[in-house]
Amino acid sequence: MTPPKSRGGAGAAGGSGRGRGGASGGGGHRASGGGGHGASGGGRGGSTGGRAASSGGRGSGGSSAGRGRPQRAGSGTTKPSQPTRLPKRPDATPQIDVHDPEGIRLQKILAAAGVGSRRVCENLIEQGRVEVDGQVVRELGVRIRPSQVVHVDGVRVQLDESRVYFAFNKPLGVVTTMSDELGRLNIGDYVGNRNERLFHVGRLDADTEGLLILTNDGDLAHRLQHPKYGVAKKYLAQIHGPVPRDLGKRLREGVELDDGPASVDSFKVVDSQPGKALVEIVLHEGRKHIVRRLLDAVGHPVLTLVRTEVGPIRLGDTRPGKMRALSKQEVGALYSAAGL
Ligand code: URA
Repeated sequence: MTPPKSRGGAGAAGGSGRGRGGASGGGGHRASGGGGHGASGGGRGGSTGGRAASSGGRGSGGSSAGRGRPQRAGSGTTKPSQPTRLPKRPDATPQIDVHDPEGIRLQKILAAAGVGSRRVCENLIEQGRVEVDGQVVRELGVRIRPSQVVHVDGVRVQLDESRVYFAFNKPLGVVTTMSDELGRLNIGDYVGNRNERLFHVGRLDADTEGLLILTNDGDLAHRLQHPKYGVAKKYLAQIHGPVPRDLGKRLREGVELDDGPASVDSFKVVDSQPGKALVEIVLHEGRKHIVRRLLDAVGHPVLTLVRTEVGPIRLGDTRPGKMRALSKQEVGALYSAAGL
């Protein structure tokens, strides 16, 4: 049996992201041609309608997004002869003036953030797909500051270039701290002399390998760890086998630990060999040693443990000890996962 390595198997598992922005599938801001946000730019809308219903700005993408025309939510009842354009109606959100005469033109700031060409960004604005501070902006003359909050198709666009976001593959034996008084190998030893002060989002045990998000965006880091946002994490654990048929059921139903009950969202056996098994676990828990304690409690102590996903972010083929910058789509998806 192959022990779980973060390279290879890590990226293969299906996404568990709860992000509303198309997660890691590349949806979001890669505008193509004149249409804008590509196939999965549906943002926060989808079947729930999200805030799109009131603002006319979010989640109106779907398959029609590429053609740049806001559509009715797909009820399946629209006849060909019926108008598909959204009726003009006042935005439900109170009108606030997001324009700052000292600011930068919205289409310029969006283009600089990598949303698309200036022309594409102008189209997006005119189509009502851009929100500034929760307000749909359709006029091309609006100027804003980079500190304002911008969403395109419901997905946050980070305008502040000083913010950085990385996926780091923490190797075995490395402690999850940015420095260590005891001189132990720590994350700070891997990130080099960066100007930004990076935080790690959550922790992994020294003997756990895998995905850690590093950022200098304190607000996002805080929210991603907050139980309220329940960001899912996916792990591959090697345990002693054979795995009883009801193990997943027991873990999903919940196990009593010394600091209270705990459960998993999903459990599956990925590989099984005589005496050993590789299992995949998804949970929202952030308690210390939670995977090890859960598997201990059901009589299958962890032999090796790798974290492969955090919300919409996958470890992919990032090698242990290496980090990669998250794409704009991934950052947008993380924001959505954190409710920002
Ligand atoms: N659960 C654990 O037991 N260890 C980790 O490092 C992460 C989750």
